[in-house]
Amino acid sequence: MAVIFSTKQKHQLGKRRCTFCTNQMKEIDYKDIVTLKYFVDGFRKIKGRYYSGVCLRHQKMLSKAIKRSREMALIPFVNKYRG
Ligand SMILES: [Zn+2]
Repeated sequence: MAVIFSTKQKHQLGKRRCTFCTNQMKEIDYKDIVTLKYFVDGFRKIKGRYYSGVCLRHQKMLSKAIKRSREMALIPFVNKYRG
């Protein structure tokens, strides 16, 4: 028997929560490369909120952390070996 969802319920099912909000992270560390690399695409560009599902407050913190880690040469600005 098929379960029929209303459009509102479907929307709620597909809704993704911000990973930083769920883990209750107040600060994003620029030295934490493992988590930062998750929010960077193959060309090492910062992923948009649409793809990463991060809230606006944390996206701003994330972009700052990524830019800071780029300056500290922890994450490359551009991936040369792709595209
Ligand atoms: Zn958040």
